[in-house]
Amino acid sequence: MKTILTGIRVNSEPTLGNFLGAMLPMVRIANKHSLDHHVNIFIPDLHSIISEVDGDFQKNLINSIKIYLAAGLKINENVHVYRQSYVPAHSEMCWILNCIANMGEMSRMTQFKDKSEGKSSVNVGIFDYPVLMAADILLYSANYVPVGEDQFQHLELTRNLAMRFNHKFGEILTVPEKTEEQVKFMETGEPIRIRDLSNPTKKMSKSAIGENSKILLNDTPEKAAKKIMSATTDSLAKIQYDMFNQPGISNLLQIDALINNQPLQEVIATWQGETHYGDLKKRVATSVSTFLTHFQESISAISDDMVYELFETGEEYANEVANKKLLEVQKAFSLR
Ligand code: ATP
Ligand code: MG
Repeated sequence: MKTILTGIRVNSEPTLGNFLGAMLPMVRIANKHSLDHHVNIFIPDLHSIISEVDGDFQKNLINSIKIYLAAGLKINENVHVYRQSYVPAHSEMCWILNCIANMGEMSRMTQFKDKSEGKSSVNVGIFDYPVLMAADILLYSANYVPVGEDQFQHLELTRNLAMRFNHKFGEILTVPEKTEEQVKFMETGEPIRIRDLSNPTKKMSKSAIGENSKILLNDTPEKAAKKIMSATTDSLAKIQYDMFNQPGISNLLQIDALINNQPLQEVIATWQGETHYGDLKKRVATSVSTFLTHFQESISAISDDMVYELFETGEEYANEVANKKLLEVQKAFSLR
C-alpha cells in the first residue's frame, strides 16, 4: 500500500483562504485515497521551534487537528495522526541524513536564503530543516507528499538524498514521486488564491494587518458577514468573472463557489449580467456566515480527548514504522 504524507503546520488561526486553498483540498485527497493508501498526517512540532513558539502552542496544535476533523477528514485504520516529536526516530534519521547531505546543496535552498536574508543571527535549524523534512518523508517510505511550490526544492533534496543513500547501500529508502507526479496526483490544477477583501489585487494572508482584509475561521459569523459586505469591488457595475479587471467581484464569486462546493462556472452563470453588487455581497455574506456557524459548532463538538486518542494510536503506529526503517538505515551505516 502506498503512503501519502502531509504535515499540518501549527500557527495562528487560519484564514478562509488557508482553509479553502490548502486545508479543504488536503481533506478531499485524504478521504479519496484512505481506503487503499496509508495517509500520514503529522504535526511537525520540531519544525515549529525553528522560530519562537508561544505558550498557546499546545492549544493551537489541538485546534489545528480539530479544524481538519471539522472540515470532514474521515478517520479509518489507514489514517495516522501523530506529533513529530513523539517519534524520536525523526531526529535520529535527520542526523544520519545530515551526514550524507552536502553543504553546497543545502546552501542553495532558496527558503533558507529568504528566511535568513538580512538577519544578523540565524539558527542552525533554519538551515537544516530540509533534512529533517527528508527524514519525515523517508522514514515512512512516503510516495506522495502534497506540498506547495515553495517546498518543491525540498522534495527534490529528499529524492536526491534517498537516491544517494540507495546508491551507496542498496535499495533501502523509497524515493518519493517527482514533483510533476505529485501535482498530478493532487489533481489541484490551478492553485486557488483567495484574495484580500480590502485589496483584492493581493492574496488573503494571515499576516495582513487590516482587520477587514481577511476572514478567520474563528470570526463570529456576524463579523465575517460584515467583512464581506465591506469588501472592495469596482465601479464597472457588471458582475462577471474577470480576476484581472474585477478581482474583488471575482473573488466573491470564487468564495461562494468553494464554500458551497458548487462549480465556479455554475456560480458565474447564475450572476452573469447582474449589476447589483449589494445582492452578490449579501449572498456571499450569508454563505460565509452559514458555513462558519456550522463549522464552529463542529469544532466545539470535538473534545481534546478525541484528539489525544488519535495521537495515541497514531504515534504507536508511527513509532513502529519509523523505528523499523531507522534500524535498516543504522545497520547500513554499521551503527547496529
Ligand atoms: P502568512 O501571511 O503568514 O504567509 P498565509 O495566510 O500566507 O500566512 P501560509 O502559512 O503561508 O498562510 O500558508 C498556508 C497554506 O495556505 C499554504 O498551502 C498556502 O498555499 C495556502 N494559502 C495561503 N494563502 C492562501 C490564499 N489566499 N488562498 C488560497 N490558499 C492560500
Ligand atoms: Mg504565506
